[in-house]
Amino acid sequence: MDHRQQRADQLKRQMTIDCENCCGLCCVALYCARSEGFPADKPAGVPCQHLQRDFRCAIHQKLAQKKYTGCMAFDCMGAGQRATALAGGLPAGRAEQERLSAAFLQLWQLYQVCWYLAEASILPAAQPLWEQLDRALDELCRLVSLPLLPLLQVDVERCRTDANQLLKRAVALSCKKMDGKYPGIYLGRDLRRRTLRERDLSMALLIAADLRGCDLSGTSLLGADLRDCDLRGADLHSSLFLLQGQLNAARGDSSTRLPAGLCRPVSWQ
Ligand code: SF4
Ligand code: SF4
Repeated sequence: MDHRQQRADQLKRQMTIDCENCCGLCCVALYCARSEGFPADKPAGVPCQHLQRDFRCAIHQKLAQKKYTGCMAFDCMGAGQRATALAGGLPAGRAEQERLSAAFLQLWQLYQVCWYLAEASILPAAQPLWEQLDRALDELCRLVSLPLLPLLQVDVERCRTDANQLLKRAVALSCKKMDGKYPGIYLGRDLRRRTLRERDLSMALLIAADLRGCDLSGTSLLGADLRDCDLRGADLHSSLFLLQGQLNAARGDSSTRLPAGLCRPVSWQ
């Protein structure tokens, strides 16, 4: 295995959630909406009514039964435990807690960019961009290693914008465009007869789409909305830019082939 593949794999391994070492930051810091599969509407920064003092969810075993799909799908990519460690646990003061929530949100977004750049940096077709991707990835690695206060000063929006330019070019070099009248809008559509292999489905709306048995090898799913999308029997083993949170929001089963580094969601069992 070459060094760039090793680096990408190592970075991805680090971006795995560890809720045992987190103070339930997602259940506090995020804005939640009942219509998006959370128990109730709540503003960002307010703890969910079900979050206990030990930072565990009081209804964790019942999330599926209650159809709290938003809770089940969320994946912070490891931002929660990292921010908790930076703050040395949950601080007592309100201002410090708000700072911790802000650091968590910064890290979560930076980790997403980091994951995407790590994937792009091993795409053979994106070789003309490898140098730029390496530089961008080095910078991202530096940013996610910052202590709490400097981390809060990072201009995440700018990082995302810069990375997006590179990622768009990497996708264009690696995937073909989708044809059809409304490419990218496939709400509830049966796509089983469409050629999706090595296609660009970045940012596609695939909510409740039927992708059973589809070959998605080399297909970019960057930012695609896969909520309730049926992936049973689909081949995603070499799909590009797929995140755990997207998988968690979709439907699948034991025959769905997954990329290395992603886990089969518990809700698929
Ligand atoms: S923020 Fe991440 S690590 Fe923390 S509880 Fe939520 S999912 Fe788990
Ligand atoms: S229901 Fe549980 S997992 Fe969902 S936001 Fe509340 S505490 Fe977190």
